[in-house]
Amino acid sequence: MAATSSLARFGLFLDGEEQFVGADRETEVLDPATNTPIARVARATAEDARHAMEVAERAFHNAGWADDDGTQRARALRALARELAANAEAFARLETLNMGKPIREARVDIGYVVRTLEYVSGLADKIEGATIPVPGPRFDYTVREPLGVTVHIAPWNYPLLLAMRSVAPALAAGNTVVLKPATWTPLTAIALARLSQKAGLHAGVLNVVPGDGRTVGEALVADPRCRSVSFTGSGPVGARIAEIAGRRSIPMTLELGGKSPAIVFPDADLERAARGIVYGIFGNAGQMCWAASRLFVHSSVREPLLEKVAALARALRLGPGVDEGTEMGPLVTREHLATVLGYVEAARADGGKVMVGGTRPTAPALAPGNYLLPTVVVDPPPESKAVREEIFGPVLAVFEFTDPDEAVRRANDTRYGLFASVWTRDLATAHGVARRLEAGMVAVNEAPITFPQTPFGGVKESGLGVEQGRFVVESYTRIKNVTIHLGGSKKRSG
Ligand code: NAD
Repeated sequence: MAATSSLARFGLFLDGEEQFVGADRETEVLDPATNTPIARVARATAEDARHAMEVAERAFHNAGWADDDGTQRARALRALARELAANAEAFARLETLNMGKPIREARVDIGYVVRTLEYVSGLADKIEGATIPVPGPRFDYTVREPLGVTVHIAPWNYPLLLAMRSVAPALAAGNTVVLKPATWTPLTAIALARLSQKAGLHAGVLNVVPGDGRTVGEALVADPRCRSVSFTGSGPVGARIAEIAGRRSIPMTLELGGKSPAIVFPDADLERAARGIVYGIFGNAGQMCWAASRLFVHSSVREPLLEKVAALARALRLGPGVDEGTEMGPLVTREHLATVLGYVEAARADGGKVMVGGTRPTAPALAPGNYLLPTVVVDPPPESKAVREEIFGPVLAVFEFTDPDEAVRRANDTRYGLFASVWTRDLATAHGVARRLEAGMVAVNEAPITFPQTPFGGVKESGLGVEQGRFVVESYTRIKNVTIHLGGSKKRSG
């Protein structure tokens, strides 16, 4: 009990202030490396969610954020980027403690959020309309207006990065925001909201309501003041959100799951491909929407590539994310570890050969955490659920091909279409295969890779709409058309 009461507390962040609740309404969040509590976080109710929407709407109309010219918003977002950069190490440690990822990955994530803020700040004062020639004595123009209150629902695998990927452009466009971070990983989002006041964001412009998805998330999306939803998470929850938002024709962005293929051709730089594939599936312990979870390798280079992949996978240092030397951390929760182990068992039972890993590590020091060895399964049958479904853990399935057309066909044989990588030195192969892959993003000879300035989004069941890129700020605006009759006696036409 004494340990519990000394835990750091995190509240709701509403109207420029952190609001704490009674202990009976707090959730303990755990360190995935030890399963011990690290903080107590307010658990918002549906009523809190509605209150957050009210606060955000009031701020939209009164705080001046939307009416400020974009230059003011750009300045505030740049100031927020600077504040975050100045506190980057503390944020990275908090992210690692809460989510489990290696500190070196958390540092990259926080740097990415800083760059995202800088990038969208550069777009905040470039939101422009058009003049349109129309018949008769008329003048026609368009303006882009912010939508109002935008709702953002984030997952736990890149807690701050994926929250801010949509929050930052929505703010740049002049909207006010209500963010619901994932239930298990809300700490950095609340910490950033604290910084936002120092950076000069007006009270009520950025609000954070941690809590249960069904209770808080649905209350936010169903609220009549909600003008858009940006959701990153699983397919079933995305479908539920689409159903609620669809009832009121609310625009939405859905960034959902994946089952990304990596295709290695005989002329590939195998050393480079092996490193990319290992990072692509064991980075963040495989808890990545775009994880390269299916490897298709040409039969002529199968043996040497698999040898390299297996050696790199076996050499990965597992441990608590906070240790500098750790290369792969624990999975986010015990429950998630059990789910991932279930997929490994399914692959094995269906006839796949577990070449590397497949079990929890035996080192006693790792026993309290949610660790799983990097796992490589060779030739699981294509109909196995371990091949059809997103595992969201460090499990690579390997298949062999001889005909490039067959490789593309099998790579596309999934309900997902988020990301794909192609490994070849041949330009025609690179362009030709990239064109035929059903994926929102394709990378050649490097993976996974994305930047704030490049679009991120999936096709098929991987999602709807895109985040990032130069049009992202505009995507949080709507176009209004204004036609002015200029008078005079000229006969109207058109
Ligand atoms: P999840 O769908 O369980 O939860 C995502 C968020 O939705 C959380 O904040 C959760 O609390 C909330 N939520 C849950 N039920 C809700 C409901 N009924 N209404 C409203 N909100 C609700 O996903 P997760 O387990 O946090 O994340 C893993 C999933 O996210 C994977 O499928 C992964 O592929 C996907 N993902 C996609 C991307 C992308 O950019 N495409 C990025 C990261 C993760």
